[in-house]
Amino acid sequence: MALHKGAAHRARERGISVNPFYGEADPLAGMTGDPPRHRLPDTPMAPRSAYRLVHDELMLDGNSRLNLATFVTTWMEPQADVLMSECQDKNMIDKDEYPRTAELEKRCVRMLADLWHAPDPATTVGCSTTGSSEACMLAGMALKRRWALANAGRYPSAEARPNLVMGANVQVCWEKFCAFWEVEARQVPMEGERFHLDPAAAAGLCDENTIGVVAVLGSTFDGSYEPVAEVCAALDGLQERTGLDVPVHVDGASGAMIAPFLDEKLVWDFRLPRVASINTSGHKYGLVYPGVGWALWRDRAALPEELVFRVNYLGGDMPTFALNFSRPGAQVAAQYYTFLRLGRDGYRAVQRNAREVACRLSRHIAETGDFRLLTRGDELPVFAFTTAEGVTSFDVFDVSRRLRERGWLVPAYTFPPNREDLSVLRIVCRNGFSHDLADLFLEDLRALLPELREQPGPLGRPESKATAFHH
Ligand SMILES: *Cc1c(COP(=O)(O)O)cnc(C)c1O
Repeated sequence: MALHKGAAHRARERGISVNPFYGEADPLAGMTGDPPRHRLPDTPMAPRSAYRLVHDELMLDGNSRLNLATFVTTWMEPQADVLMSECQDKNMIDKDEYPRTAELEKRCVRMLADLWHAPDPATTVGCSTTGSSEACMLAGMALKRRWALANAGRYPSAEARPNLVMGANVQVCWEKFCAFWEVEARQVPMEGERFHLDPAAAAGLCDENTIGVVAVLGSTFDGSYEPVAEVCAALDGLQERTGLDVPVHVDGASGAMIAPFLDEKLVWDFRLPRVASINTSGHKYGLVYPGVGWALWRDRAALPEELVFRVNYLGGDMPTFALNFSRPGAQVAAQYYTFLRLGRDGYRAVQRNAREVACRLSRHIAETGDFRLLTRGDELPVFAFTTAEGVTSFDVFDVSRRLRERGWLVPAYTFPPNREDLSVLRIVCRNGFSHDLADLFLEDLRALLPELREQPGPLGRPESKATAFHH
């Protein structure tokens, strides 16, 4: 007894009291008035109260199953939830403490290398990231460094400003890359009914300062696949004519997890010798919760060694290529789980279902007579549509706003140059958006149409045209 009393006394002397996470703080603390929202409260609060406060506030977030705007996974099965909660404390960078997590990352890279037909999956280099945006930053940096090394005689200098060629329909991450890393973005505009990159136009924009061409599989704006093989062929032609050897990066944020299962004949990946690197979002059609992405390079030559860092502060000496240092490991474990769980046949079944839902839904939308399809959902399970010719009483922004009243999130937005005149709605069909849900959506849309047709004219665009369409 005396000993305990003595220990407690000594603890008090040293100023140690109970860790507030271990004890129930005064259960009434924090309940007498509103807790402050924009500064730290002075005292702890009971865990129950804190949980309820945060939980209740988050209830006002949308229902992700009705969100037809996002590409990102919103449902995983219970076993994945358990696995992820088991791994919540694992830090991906700490490859010495968590060697098995690091091993799972390596296996995922190998599996993707095999899926994307890398010449030698055993020596393909790659890494996990927080998403495609980080993967694209890394791939872009590798392209820039390769170009800089090859042009060491002229770079840096005023005449040698690196540029990257892409379609005007690229995801915002490429504009970010160019802004952050001081690369000129050379964009091929949309033209007429062509809503993505044109191979000849892409080759035409290349010069001795081009670090690469980005081809998107498929486009965020309308779900179409860009013609990767034709882009490579146009660049082969350029090389024959001029000697310029321009590498291609494939932004397969969505399509790199669709095409290998549903379009096996389509040649878009490392089978094309000009494709230097590929990225995908594990949290899109890779079917894992946010945030995980992947970046792979064809071989060591495609990723300059000087970009890969070796750190030993955490013990061990593992190479890393990433923008962040610390990062959760749970998503990588969940990706490996999903690869094991589904296999090729499982992925094919999930993606085929998404494509069937998309194709059927787009057909029914066209059959209303009020809309014209720009794409049908037969590449990515994603399609864009606009109002049919002759529809003057409402526009796509009205449709988006009215659908929101029923809980459906369907973004309306304008296209980039040179089709700013075109405004569209886009629907992304994901795992979990079933034929049944699609039927409910159609019912809601059909119920709205009579009222929309009665409008005297479009009610005007919302103040901000910027919507969530980049996702
Ligand atoms: C979603 C997307 C990105 C960005 O991916 P995140 O994983 O959200 O960072 C990049 N490119 C394309 C084509 C996309 O669809």
